[in-house]
Amino acid sequence: MAAHDLTATSEKAPATVLGLGLMGTALATALLKAGHPTTIWNRTTSKTGPLAAQGAAPADTPAEAIAASPLTLVCLTTYDDVTELLHPHTTALAGRTLVNVTNGTPVQARKFAAWAEEHGIAYIDGGIMAVPQMIATPAAFILYSGDQQAYETHRPTLAALGGTRWTGTDPGLAALYDLSLLTGMYGMVMGVAQSFALIRSQDISAQEFAPLLSDWLTAMTSGLVPGTAEAVDTGRHLTDVSSLAVNQAAFPNLLATFADQGVRGELFDPMRQLLDRAIAEGHSADGLSRLVELLRA
Ligand code: NDP
Repeated sequence: MAAHDLTATSEKAPATVLGLGLMGTALATALLKAGHPTTIWNRTTSKTGPLAAQGAAPADTPAEAIAASPLTLVCLTTYDDVTELLHPHTTALAGRTLVNVTNGTPVQARKFAAWAEEHGIAYIDGGIMAVPQMIATPAAFILYSGDQQAYETHRPTLAALGGTRWTGTDPGLAALYDLSLLTGMYGMVMGVAQSFALIRSQDISAQEFAPLLSDWLTAMTSGLVPGTAEAVDTGRHLTDVSSLAVNQAAFPNLLATFADQGVRGELFDPMRQLLDRAIAEGHSADGLSRLVELLRA
């Protein structure tokens, strides 16, 4: 049975966390540290022990956990897991707020929001832009979309987890922002992996090379991101910085060097194809921002 000692924390709103994996545990820990009476539930019950020792109230069932708080956060592996867990609990959830911070797609979020609305559940979709260790630090932020009134009501509680970023009432927006940010990150991960593979092909220390790479990427991003954004929003892609023609001419040097040094080039070949298409379609004087339009087409 979930039970809280409210004597020391009565001014903070209660919250429930369903799912105590790495992330759910970090979320529950942050709520507890901020003084919110926190109810927890996890499929594998042994994971509730450390949090209970810190003052959380373990519930025997998801329905009991949901009933303990006006706000429930759910953090499982996939939306299918969340659907399987919560669809039988519409009665407990009705009239309460559900924040789903499980990673998913905009389509999944909108479908889930429609289901919630049908059952009188205030639904907020969330996208966590942090690893568990960053939760409740200034570096962490979470994207939210969906029921704005519920978001405003529970924002003081959500602020215990990190920065709060409202993206809009379309419930799919938090996931769209989340996946767009992750797309930029994975592009960088691919570039960093290829860069280290290339430098290591000459037996140069990765750690010796790292500061140079890091400074270079920081300098490139600080110009590339706002410059591309302005070009995309205004439709003005002509450049006096670095034309697609010059990039197309230089790019084969990368692929040739990967081959010469014994490094695989499969991550970068699609970029060559895109540059070739840009030139074939008459964009040689434009900057790299033109690629955004080619990808959208
Ligand atoms: P974990 O693998 O550590 O935890 C998964 C959790 O989901 C566990 O509590 C597990 O329960 C539960 N679960 C899985 N399937 C079911 C099910 N069918 N019914 C009930 N419970 C289920 O993952 P994380 O905590 O790392 O990630 C959780 C979510 O957070 C994911 O969507 C992830 O993408 C997202 N996220 C994670 C980040 C990270 O850095 N870790 C960063 C940003 C987002 P049990 O313990 O019983 O197995």
